Amino acid sequence: MHSTDITRATEAPQPIPAHSAAEIKPDRAAGGVQRTAPEIPLIDLMGGSSRAQINVLDHGFIALVDCMPRLVPQGQTADSAIVQAARVSYGHGTKKVNEDRGLIRYLLRHRHTTPFEMVELKFHVCMPIFVARQWIRHRTANVNEYSARYSILPDRFYTPNLDQVRKQSKANRQGGEELFRIHEDAQDLKTAQDFVRYLDDVEGFYKRYLALTEQGVSREMARIGLPVNMYTEWYWKCDLHNTLRFLALRLDSHAQFEIRAFAQAMLQLIEPLVPATVEAWKDYEVGSVHLSALEVDALRRLAAGQSAQLASDNSRERAEWAEKAAALGFNLP
Ligand SMILES: Cc1cc2nc3c(=O)[nH]c(=O)nc-3n(C[C@H](O)[C@H](O)[C@H](O)COP(=O)(O)OP(=O)(O)OC[C@H]3O[C@@H](n4cnc5c(N)ncnc54)[C@H](O)[C@@H]3O)c2cc1C
Repeated sequence: MHSTDITRATEAPQPIPAHSAAEIKPDRAAGGVQRTAPEIPLIDLMGGSSRAQINVLDHGFIALVDCMPRLVPQGQTADSAIVQAARVSYGHGTKKVNEDRGLIRYLLRHRHTTPFEMVELKFHVCMPIFVARQWIRHRTANVNEYSARYSILPDRFYTPNLDQVRKQSKANRQGGEELFRIHEDAQDLKTAQDFVRYLDDVEGFYKRYLALTEQGVSREMARIGLPVNMYTEWYWKCDLHNTLRFLALRLDSHAQFEIRAFAQAMLQLIEPLVPATVEAWKDYEVGSVHLSALEVDALRRLAAGQSAQLASDNSRERAEWAEKAAALGFNLP
């Protein structure tokens, strides 16, 4: 659904050389700024690029435009800022990459989360308004969005291909996983075509929107008749801890396909910046199975050769337990 090539604006530059202590002279006078020379030459984590962009859906994109730290000692990544904060001592975080990885894994395993807030990520995103409405619920980010009061919205609408139109799920009221079988079933093909025509019709309102603004209707009023498959843009800045929280929720199979496509691209952009953190997060969060007390009890009984029924009369909870048990390799009767 999205191009996997990351577009970078410029070629990678040379490392910034470390200065000798003589070159950066600390000013000892009261009120003077004391500067410390880096022990190791610094490199730009974005490789000198102004942005690293991945195209998503038909007109959207997500671009990493900045990060903190951006300059890191050669041979290191932004993981070093997490380690540095966890050790609360300058320089110690740069000693042994293996120890750093172990510390990061320990921090994530034990949900010692604040060191992960030391890394900041800034994205420029262009997404359909219905995706933006889900995205904005993640309140810990800083957001600045395109103003349709100030400017005319560009003519960009999200329209899925016919073979990407999804049916309403019967099991999950919020879900739509199954695709219309447009190649096998004539009725499915017609329904999918009807849906795409319906989107074409609402897109037709764009001309009326433009005409009304030309006739003097304010932009802030004219835009209220536009549909939510229209694209908007924003800058989104968030710390790594909350970005990983966003990703855990929006990469999940229960999240809507369209926001999942952006989350997958976001993960692709950040993984090279914080490889040890992403590795640990995949191990302890994405690939993990969280068990409730009732589920632990059922698992114990299963191990003792007894009934693995969950002590709950809630059918959804029992179905979730069956799913988790299957993920653990047990098929419940
Ligand atoms: C699959 C899926 C389906 C969903 N369906 C619906 C739906 O039907 N209707 C709906 O309304 N929403 C829905 N949501 C949105 C969901 O309820 C959350 O609002 C959204 O996922 C953001 O999660 P969050 O609150 O953890 O994130 P954030 O807002 O980023 O919060 C991160 C953490 O900070 C804490 N925090 C943030 N702000 C505050 C604050 N002001 N005070 C105290 N603590 C704060 C949060 O408790 C949380 O622990 C859905 C989300 C998903 C992933």
